Amino acid sequence: MSDCIFCKIVAGEIPAQVVHRGAGMVAFEDVAPKADVHVLVVPERHLESLRDVAELTPAEAKGMLDFVAETARKLSLDDYRVIVNVGPGGGQTVFHLHWHVLGGKLPVFG
Ligand code: AMP
Ligand code: ZN
Repeated sequence: MSDCIFCKIVAGEIPAQVVHRGAGMVAFEDVAPKADVHVLVVPERHLESLRDVAELTPAEAKGMLDFVAETARKLSLDDYRVIVNVGPGGGQTVFHLHWHVLGGKLPVFG
């Protein structure tokens, strides 16, 4: 999607600190971290939100979850938090599906 900031990061058109890449997925550091470690995991292909997960094949969906867990391992995180905000009411501000992986001292909810 041409005006999507995460599609541009995937394409290397705008810079990001990429920490893991493969299997149609990219993990990069959040530009405004909310925890000691804060990485965003995105599918290379544009999906607006988790609502569109039915567009993925079962293998792609499983691959995405495996990649999230692999990214945490690669960051040497044992305990961590994974968040997906869905829609503006759920706190989503970038409309390309992404998984927040947070580690270290975590923000308190609420
Ligand atoms: P969400 O509110 O769930 O849509 O999360 C969007 C996240 O993207 C926020 O935590 C932002 O700090 C982060 N973000 C926005 N622009 C960039 C960027 N250019 N590079 C890295 N992270 C970004
Ligand atoms: Zn996109």
